[in-house]
Amino acid sequence: MIVRNFAVSALLAAASVGAFQPHAPLVSRPSTYSQRSAGVSRSTLVMRDFPKPNVEDTDNYRFATEQSAQFKSTLRVKNDSQKKSVAIIGGGLSGLACAKYLTDAGHEPTVYEARDVLGGKVSAWQDEDGDWIETGLHIFFGAYPNVMNMFAELGIHDRLQWKIHQMIFAMQELPGEFTTFDFIPGIPAPFNFGLAILMNQKMLTLGEKIQTAPPLIPMLIEGQPFIDAQDELSVTEFMRKYGMPERINEEVFIAMAKALDFIDPDKLSMTVVLTAMNRFLNESNGLQMAFLDGNQSDRVCKPMTDHIEKNGGKVLVNSPIKEIVTNEDGSVKHLLLRSGEEIVADEYVSAMPVDIVKRMTPKRWQNMPYFRQLDELEGIPVINLHMWFDKKLKAVDHLCFSRSPLLSVYADMSVTCKEYEDPDKSMLELVFAPCSPLAGGNVNWISKSDEEIIDATMGELARLFPTEIANDPKWPATCEQGPAGTAKLLKYAVVKVPRSVYAAIPGELSSLS
Ligand SMILES: Cc1cc2nc3c(=O)[nH]c(=O)nc-3n(C[C@H](O)[C@H](O)[C@H](O)COP(=O)(O)OP(=O)(O)OC[C@H]3O[C@@H](n4cnc5c(N)ncnc54)[C@H](O)[C@@H]3O)c2cc1C
Repeated sequence: MIVRNFAVSALLAAASVGAFQPHAPLVSRPSTYSQRSAGVSRSTLVMRDFPKPNVEDTDNYRFATEQSAQFKSTLRVKNDSQKKSVAIIGGGLSGLACAKYLTDAGHEPTVYEARDVLGGKVSAWQDEDGDWIETGLHIFFGAYPNVMNMFAELGIHDRLQWKIHQMIFAMQELPGEFTTFDFIPGIPAPFNFGLAILMNQKMLTLGEKIQTAPPLIPMLIEGQPFIDAQDELSVTEFMRKYGMPERINEEVFIAMAKALDFIDPDKLSMTVVLTAMNRFLNESNGLQMAFLDGNQSDRVCKPMTDHIEKNGGKVLVNSPIKEIVTNEDGSVKHLLLRSGEEIVADEYVSAMPVDIVKRMTPKRWQNMPYFRQLDELEGIPVINLHMWFDKKLKAVDHLCFSRSPLLSVYADMSVTCKEYEDPDKSMLELVFAPCSPLAGGNVNWISKSDEEIIDATMGELARLFPTEIANDPKWPATCEQGPAGTAKLLKYAVVKVPRSVYAAIPGELSSLS
Protein backbone atom coordinates (compact mmCIF):
# COMPACT_ATOMS: atom_id res chain seq x y z
CA MET A 1 0.00 0.00 0.00
CA ILE A 2 1.39 3.38 -1.00
CA VAL A 3 0.37 5.02 2.23
CA ARG A 4 2.65 2.65 4.10
CA ASN A 5 4.09 5.23 6.43
CA PHE A 6 0.73 6.44 7.68
CA ALA A 7 -1.43 4.70 10.25
CA VAL A 8 -4.96 5.79 10.93
CA SER A 9 -6.41 5.13 14.32
CA ALA A 10 -9.49 7.11 13.43
CA LEU A 11 -11.71 4.06 13.34
CA LEU A 12 -10.98 3.64 17.00
CA ALA A 13 -11.10 7.31 17.70
CA ALA A 14 -14.44 8.90 17.51
CA ALA A 15 -15.11 12.55 17.90
CA SER A 16 -14.25 15.90 16.48
CA VAL A 17 -12.66 17.49 19.47
CA GLY A 18 -11.49 20.28 17.21
CA ALA A 19 -15.10 21.27 16.93
CA PHE A 20 -15.47 21.65 20.69
CA GLN A 21 -16.63 24.90 22.14
CA PRO A 22 -13.83 27.03 23.53
CA HIS A 23 -13.10 26.68 27.23
CA ALA A 24 -13.76 29.98 28.86
CA PRO A 25 -17.37 30.77 27.93
CA LEU A 26 -18.63 27.32 28.80
CA VAL A 27 -19.31 28.08 32.42
CA SER A 28 -22.24 30.33 33.00
CA ARG A 29 -22.95 31.62 36.44
CA PRO A 30 -26.48 32.46 37.51
CA SER A 31 -26.96 35.94 38.87
CA THR A 32 -27.99 34.95 42.39
CA TYR A 33 -26.55 32.44 44.80
CA SER A 34 -29.04 30.95 47.19
CA GLN A 35 -28.19 29.91 50.72
CA ARG A 36 -28.82 26.48 52.15
CA SER A 37 -32.12 26.73 53.98
CA ALA A 38 -32.29 25.89 57.66
CA GLY A 39 -33.67 22.51 58.58
CA VAL A 40 -32.08 20.58 55.72
CA SER A 41 -29.97 17.87 57.25
CA ARG A 42 -26.32 17.46 56.29
CA SER A 43 -25.55 14.40 54.32
CA THR A 44 -24.23 11.54 56.36
CA LEU A 45 -23.05 9.67 53.30
CA VAL A 46 -19.46 8.56 53.49
CA MET A 47 -17.39 8.08 50.37
CA ARG A 48 -16.02 4.56 50.21
CA ASP A 49 -13.87 2.77 47.68
CA PHE A 50 -14.63 -0.84 47.01
CA PRO A 51 -11.64 -3.18 46.69
CA LYS A 52 -10.15 -3.37 43.24
CA PRO A 53 -11.70 -6.42 41.56
CA ASN A 54 -9.54 -9.08 40.00
CA VAL A 55 -9.51 -7.80 36.43
CA GLU A 56 -6.30 -9.63 35.60
CA ASP A 57 -7.57 -13.21 35.54
CA THR A 58 -9.08 -13.11 32.04
CA ASP A 59 -7.81 -14.16 28.62
CA ASN A 60 -8.37 -10.63 27.36
CA TYR A 61 -6.16 -9.16 30.09
CA ARG A 62 -3.46 -11.78 29.53
CA PHE A 63 -3.51 -11.02 25.81
CA ALA A 64 -3.26 -7.26 26.49
CA THR A 65 -0.33 -7.81 28.84
CA GLU A 66 1.48 -10.03 26.33
CA GLN A 67 0.98 -7.54 23.51
CA SER A 68 2.19 -4.68 25.63
CA ALA A 69 5.23 -6.61 26.90
CA GLN A 70 6.36 -7.15 23.32
CA PHE A 71 7.11 -3.45 22.96
CA LYS A 72 9.77 -3.87 25.60
CA SER A 73 11.12 -7.16 24.22
CA THR A 74 10.73 -8.48 20.68
CA LEU A 75 9.57 -5.16 19.23
CA ARG A 76 12.17 -3.06 21.03
CA VAL A 77 14.84 -1.46 18.85
CA LYS A 78 18.17 -3.21 19.08
CA ASN A 79 20.29 -0.25 18.04
CA ASP A 80 20.01 3.41 17.07
CA SER A 81 19.66 2.68 13.37
CA GLN A 82 16.31 0.97 14.05
CA LYS A 83 15.00 3.92 16.01
CA LYS A 84 12.21 5.79 14.23
CA SER A 85 10.89 9.28 14.62
CA VAL A 86 7.08 9.15 14.61
CA ALA A 87 4.74 12.14 14.27
CA ILE A 88 1.41 11.45 15.97
CA ILE A 89 -1.49 13.77 15.17
CA GLY A 90 -3.81 14.14 18.16
CA GLY A 91 -3.20 14.11 21.90
CA GLY A 92 -6.31 12.25 23.03
CA LEU A 93 -5.98 8.91 24.78
CA SER A 94 -5.25 7.13 21.46
CA GLY A 95 -2.41 9.45 20.53
CA LEU A 96 -0.91 9.41 24.02
CA ALA A 97 -1.19 5.62 24.30
CA CYS A 98 0.42 5.22 20.88
CA ALA A 99 3.32 7.45 21.96
CA LYS A 100 3.67 5.60 25.26
CA TYR A 101 4.07 2.22 23.58
CA LEU A 102 6.42 3.61 20.93
CA THR A 103 8.72 4.97 23.64
CA ASP A 104 8.54 1.58 25.38
CA ALA A 105 9.89 0.12 22.14
CA GLY A 106 12.70 2.68 22.03
CA HIS A 107 11.31 4.94 19.26
CA GLU A 108 11.02 8.73 19.35
CA PRO A 109 7.42 9.83 18.93
CA THR A 110 6.16 13.40 19.05
CA VAL A 111 2.49 14.04 19.76
CA TYR A 112 1.01 17.13 18.05
CA GLU A 113 -2.16 18.24 19.85
CA ALA A 114 -4.23 21.04 18.34
CA ARG A 115 -5.73 22.36 21.57
CA ASP A 116 -4.16 23.81 24.67
CA VAL A 117 -5.18 20.74 26.69
CA LEU A 118 -4.43 17.09 26.20
CA GLY A 119 -6.98 14.33 26.42
CA GLY A 120 -9.44 15.07 23.60
CA LYS A 121 -12.72 13.64 24.80
CA VAL A 122 -11.22 13.07 28.25
CA SER A 123 -9.78 16.59 28.44
CA ALA A 124 -10.56 18.75 31.46
CA TRP A 125 -9.79 22.31 32.47
CA GLN A 126 -10.50 24.66 35.37
CA ASP A 127 -12.97 27.53 35.35
CA GLU A 128 -12.35 30.86 37.05
CA ASP A 129 -13.44 29.38 40.41
CA GLY A 130 -10.98 26.53 40.09
CA ASP A 131 -13.74 23.98 39.45
CA TRP A 132 -12.83 21.29 36.94
CA ILE A 133 -14.88 21.08 33.77
CA GLU A 134 -14.71 17.73 31.98
CA THR A 135 -15.51 16.99 28.38
CA GLY A 136 -17.24 13.77 29.34
CA LEU A 137 -18.34 11.82 32.37
CA HIS A 138 -16.07 8.80 32.18
CA ILE A 139 -16.40 5.34 33.62
CA PHE A 140 -13.78 2.61 33.55
CA PHE A 141 -15.09 -0.95 33.37
CA GLY A 142 -13.42 -4.11 34.61
CA ALA A 143 -13.57 -5.41 31.02
CA TYR A 144 -11.13 -2.78 29.71
CA PRO A 145 -8.02 -5.01 29.50
CA ASN A 146 -5.81 -2.53 27.65
CA VAL A 147 -6.68 0.38 29.92
CA MET A 148 -6.26 -1.76 33.04
CA ASN A 149 -2.92 -3.05 31.80
CA MET A 150 -1.73 0.45 30.96
CA PHE A 151 -2.80 1.77 34.38
CA ALA A 152 -0.77 -1.06 35.95
CA GLU A 153 2.25 -0.20 33.82
CA LEU A 154 2.00 3.46 34.77
CA GLY A 155 1.49 2.58 38.43
CA ILE A 156 -1.79 4.48 38.66
CA HIS A 157 -4.30 1.74 39.44
CA ASP A 158 -4.93 3.35 42.81
CA ARG A 159 -6.45 6.33 40.99
CA LEU A 160 -9.49 4.24 40.10
CA GLN A 161 -12.27 4.39 42.65
CA TRP A 162 -14.11 1.10 42.28
CA LYS A 163 -17.81 1.09 43.06
CA ILE A 164 -20.01 -1.70 44.32
CA HIS A 165 -20.68 -4.27 41.58
CA GLN A 166 -24.11 -3.03 40.71
CA MET A 167 -26.01 -1.25 37.95
CA ILE A 168 -28.40 1.42 39.15
CA PHE A 169 -31.46 2.50 37.21
CA ALA A 170 -33.90 5.30 37.98
CA MET A 171 -37.44 3.95 38.10
CA GLN A 172 -39.53 5.35 35.29
CA GLU A 173 -42.92 5.09 36.98
CA LEU A 174 -41.68 5.93 40.46
CA PRO A 175 -39.96 9.33 40.38
CA GLY A 176 -37.12 9.55 42.87
CA GLU A 177 -36.72 5.80 43.24
CA PHE A 178 -33.98 3.55 41.95
CA THR A 179 -33.62 -0.13 41.31
CA THR A 180 -30.48 -2.22 40.90
CA PHE A 181 -28.91 -5.21 39.19
CA ASP A 182 -26.75 -6.70 41.94
CA PHE A 183 -23.80 -8.89 41.03
CA ILE A 184 -23.20 -11.47 43.74
CA PRO A 185 -19.49 -11.90 44.51
CA GLY A 186 -18.15 -15.37 43.73
CA ILE A 187 -20.73 -16.20 41.05
CA PRO A 188 -18.88 -16.53 37.73
CA ALA A 189 -19.84 -14.84 34.47
CA PRO A 190 -22.23 -14.94 32.72
CA PHE A 191 -24.33 -16.46 35.54
CA ASN A 192 -23.77 -13.45 37.79
CA PHE A 193 -25.49 -11.23 35.22
CA GLY A 194 -28.33 -13.70 34.70
CA LEU A 195 -28.83 -13.88 38.44
CA ALA A 196 -28.67 -10.09 38.79
CA ILE A 197 -31.53 -9.79 36.30
CA LEU A 198 -33.53 -12.61 37.83
CA MET A 199 -33.22 -11.12 41.31
CA ASN A 200 -34.44 -7.70 40.21
CA GLN A 201 -38.18 -7.66 40.75
CA LYS A 202 -38.87 -4.10 39.71
CA MET A 203 -37.96 -3.78 36.05
CA LEU A 204 -39.18 -6.89 34.28
CA THR A 205 -41.68 -9.64 35.02
CA LEU A 206 -40.52 -13.24 35.12
CA GLY A 207 -42.30 -13.83 31.79
CA GLU A 208 -40.45 -10.94 30.18
CA LYS A 209 -37.15 -12.21 31.50
CA ILE A 210 -37.84 -15.69 30.11
CA GLN A 211 -38.75 -14.23 26.70
CA THR A 212 -35.60 -12.12 26.61
CA ALA A 213 -32.97 -14.75 27.28
CA PRO A 214 -33.23 -17.13 24.23
CA PRO A 215 -32.36 -14.53 21.54
CA LEU A 216 -29.21 -13.67 23.47
CA ILE A 217 -27.95 -17.24 23.91
CA PRO A 218 -26.40 -17.51 20.38
CA MET A 219 -24.28 -14.48 21.31
CA LEU A 220 -22.72 -16.47 24.15
CA ILE A 221 -22.40 -19.72 22.20
CA GLU A 222 -21.50 -18.58 18.66
CA GLY A 223 -19.74 -15.38 19.67
CA GLN A 224 -18.58 -12.77 17.17
CA PRO A 225 -19.83 -14.40 13.91
CA PHE A 226 -23.42 -14.29 15.25
CA ILE A 227 -22.89 -10.79 16.59
CA ASP A 228 -21.51 -9.47 13.29
CA ALA A 229 -24.39 -11.02 11.38
CA GLN A 230 -26.86 -8.84 13.31
CA ASP A 231 -25.40 -5.58 12.02
CA GLU A 232 -28.18 -5.01 9.49
CA LEU A 233 -30.67 -4.83 12.36
CA SER A 234 -31.22 -1.98 14.75
CA VAL A 235 -31.69 -2.88 18.40
CA THR A 236 -35.43 -2.37 18.03
CA GLU A 237 -35.60 -4.52 14.87
CA PHE A 238 -33.59 -7.30 16.55
CA MET A 239 -35.98 -7.28 19.50
CA ARG A 240 -39.02 -7.54 17.25
CA LYS A 241 -37.48 -10.19 14.98
CA TYR A 242 -36.71 -12.45 17.95
CA GLY A 243 -39.94 -11.79 19.82
CA MET A 244 -38.50 -9.92 22.77
CA PRO A 245 -41.18 -8.07 24.72
CA GLU A 246 -41.53 -4.35 23.86
CA ARG A 247 -40.99 -3.37 27.47
CA ILE A 248 -37.37 -4.55 27.27
CA ASN A 249 -36.79 -1.56 25.04
CA GLU A 250 -38.16 0.96 27.52
CA GLU A 251 -36.72 -0.75 30.55
CA VAL A 252 -33.24 -1.68 29.35
CA PHE A 253 -32.27 -1.03 25.73
CA ILE A 254 -32.96 2.73 25.61
CA ALA A 255 -30.69 3.22 28.63
CA MET A 256 -28.07 0.90 27.19
CA ALA A 257 -28.02 2.45 23.70
CA LYS A 258 -27.78 5.97 25.10
CA ALA A 259 -24.95 4.95 27.41
CA LEU A 260 -23.03 3.12 24.67
CA ASP A 261 -23.45 5.51 21.76
CA PHE A 262 -25.57 8.50 22.93
CA ILE A 263 -28.24 7.31 20.51
CA ASP A 264 -31.70 5.74 20.62
CA PRO A 265 -32.06 1.97 20.03
CA ASP A 266 -33.94 2.34 16.74
CA LYS A 267 -30.82 4.06 15.32
CA LEU A 268 -28.19 1.74 16.80
CA SER A 269 -26.83 -1.43 15.22
CA MET A 270 -27.57 -4.50 17.36
CA THR A 271 -23.97 -5.55 16.76
CA VAL A 272 -22.81 -2.76 19.06
CA VAL A 273 -25.04 -3.86 21.93
CA LEU A 274 -24.20 -7.55 21.48
CA THR A 275 -20.46 -6.86 21.23
CA ALA A 276 -20.57 -4.89 24.46
CA MET A 277 -22.74 -7.49 26.20
CA ASN A 278 -20.58 -10.37 25.01
CA ARG A 279 -17.47 -8.62 26.23
CA PHE A 280 -18.82 -7.49 29.56
CA LEU A 281 -20.87 -10.55 30.38
CA ASN A 282 -18.09 -13.04 29.77
CA GLU A 283 -15.92 -11.61 32.50
CA SER A 284 -17.05 -11.95 36.11
CA ASN A 285 -15.90 -8.40 36.93
CA GLY A 286 -16.42 -7.03 33.43
CA LEU A 287 -19.30 -4.77 34.35
CA GLN A 288 -17.82 -3.51 37.60
CA MET A 289 -17.29 0.23 37.31
CA ALA A 290 -14.66 2.65 38.52
CA PHE A 291 -14.48 6.43 38.56
CA LEU A 292 -11.24 8.34 38.40
CA ASP A 293 -10.38 9.92 41.74
CA GLY A 294 -9.89 13.35 40.18
CA ASN A 295 -9.74 15.38 37.02
CA GLN A 296 -8.78 13.43 33.94
CA SER A 297 -5.95 15.74 32.89
CA ASP A 298 -3.92 15.32 36.06
CA ARG A 299 -4.90 11.79 36.89
CA VAL A 300 -4.47 10.12 33.46
CA CYS A 301 -3.05 12.43 30.78
CA LYS A 302 -0.23 13.73 32.98
CA PRO A 303 1.25 10.33 33.92
CA MET A 304 1.04 9.25 30.29
CA THR A 305 2.84 12.42 29.20
CA ASP A 306 5.48 12.02 31.94
CA HIS A 307 6.13 8.47 30.82
CA ILE A 308 6.47 9.51 27.18
CA GLU A 309 8.81 12.41 27.95
CA LYS A 310 10.91 10.42 30.39
CA ASN A 311 11.48 7.80 27.72
CA GLY A 312 12.54 10.09 24.90
CA GLY A 313 9.24 11.22 23.33
CA LYS A 314 7.67 14.67 23.14
CA VAL A 315 4.13 15.93 23.67
CA LEU A 316 3.25 19.31 22.18
CA VAL A 317 0.01 21.21 22.72
CA ASN A 318 -1.20 24.19 20.64
CA SER A 319 0.19 22.40 17.59
CA PRO A 320 -2.64 21.88 15.10
CA ILE A 321 -1.77 19.99 11.94
CA LYS A 322 -3.26 21.79 8.95
CA GLU A 323 -2.42 19.39 6.16
CA ILE A 324 -0.92 16.01 5.38
CA VAL A 325 1.30 16.79 2.39
CA THR A 326 2.00 13.87 0.06
CA ASN A 327 4.64 13.00 -2.56
CA GLU A 328 3.78 12.08 -6.16
CA ASP A 329 3.57 8.39 -5.17
CA GLY A 330 1.12 9.16 -2.38
CA SER A 331 3.52 8.62 0.52
CA VAL A 332 3.65 11.32 3.17
CA LYS A 333 6.12 14.13 2.41
CA HIS A 334 5.53 16.04 5.62
CA LEU A 335 2.88 17.38 7.95
CA LEU A 336 2.12 21.06 7.73
CA LEU A 337 1.41 22.73 11.05
CA ARG A 338 -1.01 25.67 11.07
CA SER A 339 1.98 27.80 12.09
CA GLY A 340 3.59 27.01 8.73
CA GLU A 341 6.21 24.67 10.18
CA GLU A 342 6.84 21.43 8.29
CA ILE A 343 7.20 18.20 10.26
CA VAL A 344 9.16 15.38 8.69
CA ALA A 345 9.26 12.00 10.41
CA ASP A 346 10.01 8.38 9.56
CA GLU A 347 6.42 7.39 10.27
CA TYR A 348 3.13 9.24 10.74
CA VAL A 349 0.11 8.25 12.82
CA SER A 350 -3.33 9.81 12.87
CA ALA A 351 -5.05 9.68 16.24
CA MET A 352 -7.62 12.25 15.16
CA PRO A 353 -11.38 11.77 15.32
CA VAL A 354 -12.94 10.35 12.21
CA ASP A 355 -14.70 13.56 11.09
CA ILE A 356 -11.39 15.42 11.02
CA VAL A 357 -9.55 12.60 9.24
CA LYS A 358 -12.25 12.74 6.56
CA ARG A 359 -11.65 16.46 6.12
CA MET A 360 -7.89 16.07 6.10
CA THR A 361 -7.49 13.05 3.81
CA PRO A 362 -5.05 14.10 1.06
CA LYS A 363 -6.49 14.22 -2.48
CA ARG A 364 -4.25 11.36 -3.62
CA TRP A 365 -5.76 9.03 -1.00
CA GLN A 366 -9.38 9.95 -1.41
CA ASN A 367 -10.34 7.17 -3.82
CA MET A 368 -8.58 4.44 -1.88
CA PRO A 369 -11.15 1.94 -0.55
CA TYR A 370 -9.61 2.20 2.91
CA PHE A 371 -10.41 5.89 3.14
CA ARG A 372 -13.75 5.62 1.29
CA GLN A 373 -14.97 3.49 4.22
CA LEU A 374 -14.79 6.57 6.37
CA ASP A 375 -17.66 8.09 4.35
CA GLU A 376 -19.96 5.85 6.31
CA LEU A 377 -18.86 7.24 9.65
CA GLU A 378 -20.25 10.37 11.16
CA GLY A 379 -19.76 11.71 14.66
CA ILE A 380 -22.93 12.39 16.59
CA PRO A 381 -23.41 15.22 19.05
CA VAL A 382 -23.49 14.83 22.80
CA ILE A 383 -23.50 17.33 25.64
CA ASN A 384 -21.78 16.94 29.00
CA LEU A 385 -23.22 18.97 31.86
CA HIS A 386 -21.95 19.95 35.27
CA MET A 387 -24.55 21.26 37.71
CA TRP A 388 -23.60 22.52 41.14
CA PHE A 389 -26.43 22.58 43.73
CA ASP A 390 -26.56 24.45 47.00
CA LYS A 391 -27.52 21.27 48.88
CA LYS A 392 -26.78 17.62 48.97
CA LEU A 393 -29.21 15.69 46.80
CA LYS A 394 -30.06 12.09 47.63
CA ALA A 395 -26.58 10.88 46.90
CA VAL A 396 -25.76 7.62 45.20
CA ASP A 397 -22.08 6.66 45.15
CA HIS A 398 -22.28 5.24 41.63
CA LEU A 399 -23.22 5.81 38.03
CA CYS A 400 -26.97 6.13 37.54
CA PHE A 401 -28.89 5.28 34.39
CA SER A 402 -31.39 8.12 34.36
CA ARG A 403 -33.84 6.47 31.95
CA SER A 404 -35.21 9.90 31.20
CA PRO A 405 -35.94 11.13 27.67
CA LEU A 406 -33.17 13.72 27.50
CA LEU A 407 -30.49 12.21 29.68
CA SER A 408 -28.27 9.19 29.46
CA VAL A 409 -26.17 8.46 32.56
CA TYR A 410 -25.22 10.79 35.40
CA ALA A 411 -23.35 10.76 38.68
CA ASP A 412 -23.12 12.93 41.76
CA MET A 413 -19.41 13.66 41.54
CA SER A 414 -19.39 15.20 45.00
CA VAL A 415 -19.79 11.63 46.20
CA THR A 416 -18.24 9.44 43.54
CA CYS A 417 -14.93 11.26 43.05
CA LYS A 418 -12.46 12.17 45.81
CA GLU A 419 -11.22 15.39 44.25
CA TYR A 420 -14.75 16.75 43.84
CA GLU A 421 -15.97 15.56 47.24
CA ASP A 422 -18.29 17.95 49.07
CA PRO A 423 -20.24 16.87 52.16
CA ASP A 424 -22.78 19.70 51.84
CA LYS A 425 -23.48 20.25 48.19
CA SER A 426 -23.99 18.09 45.13
CA MET A 427 -22.29 18.41 41.78
CA LEU A 428 -24.02 16.36 39.14
CA GLU A 429 -22.22 15.45 35.95
CA LEU A 430 -24.74 14.37 33.32
CA VAL A 431 -24.64 13.15 29.75
CA PHE A 432 -27.39 14.82 27.72
CA ALA A 433 -28.54 12.52 24.87
CA PRO A 434 -29.92 12.06 22.28
CA CYS A 435 -28.95 15.52 21.11
CA SER A 436 -30.08 15.52 17.50
CA PRO A 437 -32.40 13.85 14.99
CA LEU A 438 -29.42 11.74 13.80
CA ALA A 439 -29.23 10.27 17.29
CA GLY A 440 -32.97 9.69 17.51
CA GLY A 441 -34.07 12.89 19.23
CA ASN A 442 -36.50 15.38 17.70
CA VAL A 443 -34.66 18.54 18.78
CA ASN A 444 -31.23 19.70 17.71
CA TRP A 445 -30.02 20.54 21.21
CA ILE A 446 -26.52 21.44 20.08
CA SER A 447 -27.90 24.61 18.52
CA LYS A 448 -29.83 25.58 21.68
CA SER A 449 -28.55 28.03 24.25
CA ASP A 450 -26.96 26.82 27.49
CA GLU A 451 -29.96 28.19 29.40
CA GLU A 452 -32.42 26.17 27.29
CA ILE A 453 -30.37 23.00 27.78
CA ILE A 454 -30.10 23.55 31.53
CA ASP A 455 -33.81 24.34 31.85
CA ALA A 456 -34.71 21.12 30.02
CA THR A 457 -32.31 19.23 32.29
CA MET A 458 -33.83 20.82 35.39
CA GLY A 459 -37.17 19.40 34.21
CA GLU A 460 -35.61 15.93 34.03
CA LEU A 461 -33.98 16.38 37.44
CA ALA A 462 -37.31 17.44 38.92
CA ARG A 463 -38.49 13.93 38.06
CA LEU A 464 -35.33 12.23 39.32
CA PHE A 465 -35.32 14.22 42.59
CA PRO A 466 -39.03 15.07 43.04
CA THR A 467 -38.82 16.05 46.68
CA GLU A 468 -35.46 17.80 46.52
CA ILE A 469 -35.25 20.10 43.50
CA ALA A 470 -36.81 23.49 44.28
CA ASN A 471 -39.40 25.32 42.25
CA ASP A 472 -37.09 28.01 40.91
CA PRO A 473 -38.62 30.73 38.69
CA LYS A 474 -35.28 31.02 36.91
CA TRP A 475 -35.90 27.51 35.54
CA PRO A 476 -39.51 27.27 34.24
CA ALA A 477 -39.22 23.48 33.90
CA THR A 478 -39.23 23.23 37.71
CA CYS A 479 -42.57 25.06 38.02
CA GLU A 480 -44.47 21.97 39.16
CA GLN A 481 -42.13 21.21 42.04
CA GLY A 482 -43.82 21.18 45.42
CA PRO A 483 -42.76 23.08 48.54
CA ALA A 484 -40.64 20.17 49.81
CA GLY A 485 -38.02 20.84 47.18
CA THR A 486 -35.35 23.27 48.34
CA ALA A 487 -32.25 22.49 46.30
CA LYS A 488 -31.34 25.28 43.92
CA LEU A 489 -28.87 25.38 41.11
CA LEU A 490 -25.81 27.47 41.99
CA LYS A 491 -23.81 27.21 38.82
CA TYR A 492 -23.52 25.12 35.69
CA ALA A 493 -21.23 24.29 32.79
CA VAL A 494 -22.33 23.05 29.40
CA VAL A 495 -19.75 21.27 27.22
CA LYS A 496 -21.07 20.69 23.72
CA VAL A 497 -19.36 18.02 21.65
CA PRO A 498 -20.91 18.49 18.20
CA ARG A 499 -19.06 15.47 16.80
CA SER A 500 -18.68 12.76 19.36
CA VAL A 501 -18.51 8.98 18.97
CA TYR A 502 -19.60 7.97 15.49
CA ALA A 503 -23.14 6.86 14.90
CA ALA A 504 -23.02 3.07 14.71
CA ILE A 505 -26.17 2.83 12.60
CA PRO A 506 -27.32 -0.55 11.25
CA GLY A 507 -25.38 -1.88 8.26
CA GLU A 508 -22.41 0.39 8.77
CA LEU A 509 -20.02 -1.84 10.66
CA SER A 510 -20.25 -4.69 8.16
CA SER A 511 -19.11 -2.32 5.41
CA LEU A 512 -15.87 -1.59 7.26
CA SER A 513 -12.85 -3.82 6.95
C1 LIG B 1 -19.55 12.66 26.98
C2 LIG B 1 -18.67 11.46 26.72
C3 LIG B 1 -18.64 10.42 27.66
C4 LIG B 1 -17.87 9.29 27.40
N1 LIG B 1 -17.87 8.29 28.33
C5 LIG B 1 -17.07 7.23 28.16
C6 LIG B 1 -16.97 6.23 29.17
O1 LIG B 1 -17.58 6.34 30.22
N2 LIG B 1 -16.16 5.16 28.96
C7 LIG B 1 -15.46 5.05 27.79
O2 LIG B 1 -14.74 4.08 27.63
N3 LIG B 1 -15.53 5.97 26.81
C8 LIG B 1 -16.31 7.06 26.96
N4 LIG B 1 -16.37 8.01 26.00
C9 LIG B 1 -15.62 7.81 24.74
C10 LIG B 1 -14.13 8.14 24.94
O3 LIG B 1 -14.02 9.41 25.50
C11 LIG B 1 -13.43 8.16 23.58
O4 LIG B 1 -13.63 6.94 22.92
C12 LIG B 1 -11.93 8.35 23.69
O5 LIG B 1 -11.59 9.37 24.60
C13 LIG B 1 -11.40 8.68 22.30
O6 LIG B 1 -10.03 8.99 22.39
P1 LIG B 1 -9.22 9.32 21.09
O7 LIG B 1 -7.85 9.69 21.49
O8 LIG B 1 -9.35 8.20 20.14
O9 LIG B 1 -9.96 10.57 20.40
P2 LIG B 1 -10.13 12.04 20.96
O10 LIG B 1 -10.30 12.02 22.42
O11 LIG B 1 -11.20 12.62 20.13
O12 LIG B 1 -8.74 12.73 20.65
C14 LIG B 1 -8.40 13.23 19.39
C15 LIG B 1 -7.44 14.39 19.59
O13 LIG B 1 -7.00 14.85 18.31
C16 LIG B 1 -6.88 16.25 18.38
N5 LIG B 1 -6.87 16.80 17.02
C17 LIG B 1 -7.92 16.90 16.17
N6 LIG B 1 -7.52 17.47 15.01
C18 LIG B 1 -6.22 17.75 15.15
C19 LIG B 1 -5.26 18.36 14.30
N7 LIG B 1 -5.58 18.79 13.07
N8 LIG B 1 -3.99 18.50 14.75
C20 LIG B 1 -3.64 18.05 15.99
N9 LIG B 1 -4.52 17.48 16.84
C21 LIG B 1 -5.79 17.32 16.42
C22 LIG B 1 -8.08 16.66 19.20
O14 LIG B 1 -7.96 17.97 19.70
C23 LIG B 1 -8.08 15.59 20.28
O15 LIG B 1 -7.33 15.96 21.40
C24 LIG B 1 -17.12 9.18 26.20
C25 LIG B 1 -17.13 10.23 25.28
C26 LIG B 1 -17.89 11.36 25.53
C27 LIG B 1 -17.88 12.47 24.52
